[in-house]
Order: sequence, then structure tokens, then C-alpha cells
Amino acid sequence: MVRRPPQPSPEPAEWRTLSPDDPEAFPKAVVFDLDYTLWDLWIDTHISPPLRRRGEEVNALVDRRGSTLEFYPEVPGILAALKARGTTIGVASRTSAIDLAQEALSLLLVPGVDGAIVKARSFFDVIEIYPSSKIKHFHEIHKRTRIPYEQMLFFDDESRNHDTESLGVTMHLIRDGMNRAEWDKGLARWRKRRGIKVRGNDSN
Ligand SMILES: [Mg+2]
Repeated sequence: MVRRPPQPSPEPAEWRTLSPDDPEAFPKAVVFDLDYTLWDLWIDTHISPPLRRRGEEVNALVDRRGSTLEFYPEVPGILAALKARGTTIGVASRTSAIDLAQEALSLLLVPGVDGAIVKARSFFDVIEIYPSSKIKHFHEIHKRTRIPYEQMLFFDDESRNHDTESLGVTMHLIRDGMNRAEWDKGLARWRKRRGIKVRGNDSN
């Protein structure tokens, strides 16, 4: 009798090799958590409203007590690269500070695709912010975008949110905030689950 393994093998049954500029070598949607993924704080405990921006200052807001809120340094470039590729970009956060998080995204200024300064909010096609299992956030993201879960790559700093992988989403657990090295690791993980190798790229 052949015993079935308790979990499906992470190795795909078949591999296909794509060129590095093939759109199929990239997920159609990339979703980010907020706290300790895009910024270095818990917005519900570390930030006291109101938030304000000092003039047209880029990637910096200050709260009532003078604490600063900003994206990790490589985040704006990552968002702009995704936007340039036509990727759907989402937020999935379980913070209870819903209005404050929305306000931060609307106030924060960052360099856009062509270098012009834009509101961070303009990068995001779908924003789901409320306390709940992130399964619910992804149900909503799927409902609103119609993008299959298998085409979603998710970055988050909390391992409990790996439960989203039961939907078919690929989650990459990050350590010290979002940056290009984490992007590369997450993309490699998504490609591996999809059975995608990229020509000329030895790391996956
Ligand atoms: Mg977080």
C-alpha cells in the first residue's frame, strides 16, 4: 500500500522555464501587511492622532507627540516597480486603528513610477483594514479583484497569517521590514510553488 504524505509536497509536479520578462513569471497581485511590514511600528499603539505632514516632505508624517511614521526605505521603489509592471497592489491589515491607517496612506507622499511625488494611497488598488483573520481580508481581495489566490503573493511579519496559504495564496514571512531582499525571496517562493523557473536566474 502506498501511503499518502500528510501534506502535499511543496515541490511542483512539473516545472516550466520562462524568460525573465514573461508576465507569467510574476504574481498578478502583491499584498502587504502594514505594521512591521511597510512601516516600523504598530499604528494603533505607537501613533497618537492627528497625523500631519510637514509641507511636501516625502515619506514622513508626524503625530501629536512628534513620533514619525514612514515606509521602510526600499518600500516606495518596490511599489513603483510593481505599479510599472501593472501588478495589482493590496493592503491586508488587522489593525484596529482603521481610520488612522487609512489617513496615513492618504497623507504619506512617495516617489511614483516616473519619479513624480504621489500619495502612497494611489499605489493601492485594494485596501482591507480591520481586525479579523486575514483569510477574510483575502476573501475580500479576491472578490473585488477576481484574481485567483494562486496569483497572489503576500508579505507579512506574523507567522500566524500563514493560514492564508490554505486559500492558495503564497505568503512570505519577513523579518525586519519590507525590502528588496525580501521581495526576491518572496518572488522565488511564489515561483517555486507555481513550478516556474526563470531563465538565467540560478536562485530559483
Ligand atoms: Mg504586521
